[in-house]
Amino acid sequence: MEKPTSGQRPRTCRACGKKFEYPVKDNPATRHHCEDCVAVPADTRKILERLNNRITQLERALRGTAEKPVPPPIAK
Ligand SMILES: [Zn+2]
Repeated sequence: MEKPTSGQRPRTCRACGKKFEYPVKDNPATRHHCEDCVAVPADTRKILERLNNRITQLERALRGTAEKPVPPPIAK
């Protein structure tokens, strides 16, 4: 992991899962939401957070069950 420098450390957006730096000057991002999702209305963002939670849980579950390596997607 990178060491936090001058109070900045990578954050993960609660709504879309994007990694972002916070705080960044002139960037509206908040501690929990990236600059994209901060513009989303709170009601909608709540839904995004719910979906993102489900994705996170699914990813975790998949990782737990994927004993065998998954065949790589066909490169094109
Ligand atoms: Zn986001």
